Amino acid sequence: MAGANIYWNPLLETLPQEKLKQLQLAKFKQIFKWAYDHSKFYRKLYSDAGIQPGDIRKFEDIRKVPKMEKSMLRAAQGKDPYPYGDMLCVPLEEVAVYRQTSGTTGQPVYWADTWQDWEGGIEAYCYALYAQGYRDNDRLFLPFGYNIFIAFWSAHYAGEKLGCEVVPGGVLNTEARILKMQEVRATCMASTPSYVLSIADTARNKLGINPAKDLFVRKITVAGEPGGSIPATRNRMQEAWGAKVYDQVGSTEAGHWGWECQHQSGVHINEGMSLVEIEDIETGEILEKPGARGRMIVTNLNRCAMPCIRMDSKDVIQWHDRTCDCGRTYRMLNGGVIGRTDDITKVKGVLFAPSACEEVIRSIPELSDEYQIIVERQGNEDDITIKCEIKPGFESQQPNIKSRLTDKLRIVTNIGYNIEFNTYGSLPRYDAKAKRFKDNRKH
Ligand SMILES: [Zn+2]
Repeated sequence: MAGANIYWNPLLETLPQEKLKQLQLAKFKQIFKWAYDHSKFYRKLYSDAGIQPGDIRKFEDIRKVPKMEKSMLRAAQGKDPYPYGDMLCVPLEEVAVYRQTSGTTGQPVYWADTWQDWEGGIEAYCYALYAQGYRDNDRLFLPFGYNIFIAFWSAHYAGEKLGCEVVPGGVLNTEARILKMQEVRATCMASTPSYVLSIADTARNKLGINPAKDLFVRKITVAGEPGGSIPATRNRMQEAWGAKVYDQVGSTEAGHWGWECQHQSGVHINEGMSLVEIEDIETGEILEKPGARGRMIVTNLNRCAMPCIRMDSKDVIQWHDRTCDCGRTYRMLNGGVIGRTDDITKVKGVLFAPSACEEVIRSIPELSDEYQIIVERQGNEDDITIKCEIKPGFESQQPNIKSRLTDKLRIVTNIGYNIEFNTYGSLPRYDAKAKRFKDNRKH
């Protein structure tokens, strides 16, 4: 089949946009009716808004469907059928898979999948790995102890479905994981960006191993944090490992809705399986124009046990203004998940996104990978501090580093910062879900 060696699903990945929209509309109608018919939670949500399945006729009608939020899921859970509550659309006997959200923003949300739902999620991940060049001659190392969270379970199953040998590095510590990767000659790895950097650091400093020369990993898929689409962070990872690094995005609720291909030119949305909309943060208008930026509203078009229909993900994303050279017709995002609407806040009267600081900090080679951003209120004024570390050997250049950092930050973000240099190695290191931004004004 033409294109069979590029695309996991040559038919869907090259379907003209107009056909993709028709497919999304047909699937949306189906999942909307399913939720309406099978769950008290969804029926009440939609009845209260005065909308029912017959009202969705054209693509634009999708916008009339009320959005969901994580807080609504939390409120509905903990009741019968326990613990999912009446949002569950199948009998408990059909639930085959339990996961929960990480709870970084509050009480965890329980998540149920039927076996069919779960297989759909794995299939979605296969699109990503295949587009990034994973094949049956690869050996995929997963340096994570998977547990009740979704993280890297799907990578494991999708790797196996593709025929890669998957080596789970779960119970090992970082040093043992590095040695195991070397021993089995792993060719690829999936991890969070923070941990990709931290493994390389440990390899160099504790084991005298240079991942780019002494290990065999040449493809890395990163997920769980925005780093994969932040150019300076991506460069650091690629240089440290001598590998290509690809971003992969998704969530417990919405599944794996986007990924980068080998061209690394933006995050493709898996439009055959998901519907992604961008809403203006202030007006709530749905934005279609290339370059438009706003909050993501995401629908998983396949999931039955707990449908995820028009979920306000609180993620900030931006439509790309170009298509990709790989030939996929899926729409593309510029910069992946740029940030969280919760984290985008006004500091000193200017709209501030912490990810912009990451790009600046990591573009300065004398600084370590770690940093912290802290916003505080001093009297009537906002005060913003960046804590970072100078790499060993560059300490004498502190004044020069400080002035470059200050200037670049001002140009990119339009605000001034207090810069604090901490001893190398003293800032917190993260394996997953790094929390480097603290807004202390909220407390
Ligand atoms: Zn592409």
